[in-house]
Amino acid sequence: AVSLGVGWLFGHRLAAAAVWADQARDRERQVEKGRRDLVAWVSHDLRTPLAGLRAMAEALEDQVVHDPDTVGEYHRRIRVETDRMTRLVDDLFELSRINAGALRLSLSTVPLGEVVSDAVAVTTPIAQARRIRLVAAESGWPTVSASEPELSRVVANLLLNAVRYTPEDGTVRVSGGRDRDGVWLAVADTCGGIPEADLPRVFDVAFRGERARTPRTTPDGDGDDGGAAGGLGLAIVRGLVEAHGGRVAVHNIQQGCRFVVHLPTP
Ligand code: ADP
Repeated sequence: AVSLGVGWLFGHRLAAAAVWADQARDRERQVEKGRRDLVAWVSHDLRTPLAGLRAMAEALEDQVVHDPDTVGEYHRRIRVETDRMTRLVDDLFELSRINAGALRLSLSTVPLGEVVSDAVAVTTPIAQARRIRLVAAESGWPTVSASEPELSRVVANLLLNAVRYTPEDGTVRVSGGRDRDGVWLAVADTCGGIPEADLPRVFDVAFRGERARTPRTTPDGDGDDGGAAGGLGLAIVRGLVEAHGGRVAVHNIQQGCRFVVHLPTP
């Protein structure tokens, strides 16, 4: 009976170890795939605009373009693309800090309502230009233990996405509160829903939905909507939330989708 007991226990240990090893291998495979996706993506998202910039700079230098309107347009495009690429490099830097575990969070008690109203203020001009109603509760917000710059980034990225992916005349609602798990924050929009097949992938590095890949008209007409450049916004959101010991999820609702962040309370 004793040897049976030991064997049984040992068997369980082995099984547990095997599951662990499997999970570690899966995780490694995921990280490796993420790295490959990122390299492929950087070479596309960085090289394509760089080639465009070079062509425009060359045309200006060689005075191939003369008429003032075209010259002005080339200068403007060079500025817009440079801004976009600067943000892209900033985002890549942020992601690599997150992935390397090099984030130093300095936690304090943060009033979530203030973080939300700051993000709403920044996003309002874009929302207005697209006639999108941006609604956030005025009171009743909890406080949360978080690193304020990182939390602000999370809220701003979610709000910016919501107003970017919601068709004109839509609504974006921000709400929050406390539940058994801690503090939650939700951003719901009327984007028409994310395709079911895309739902598990939206937080992946370099994932971009169909709509993001087709050019959109932008509020100021410069073709740059100020979003995190190229499929990094939600990867950053997830990284920052998880660094806080929290989690983020998305699901479809009646007319759109809803992103929910949960942060633990100490
Ligand atoms: P990007 O917006 O630059 O493509 P993100 O990581 O922020 O990168 O988002 C990844 C993809 O998730 C988007 O391309 C889009 O398809 C989808 N998405 C993100 N936020 C929303 C939203 N609020 N409503 C609908 N789709 C969204």
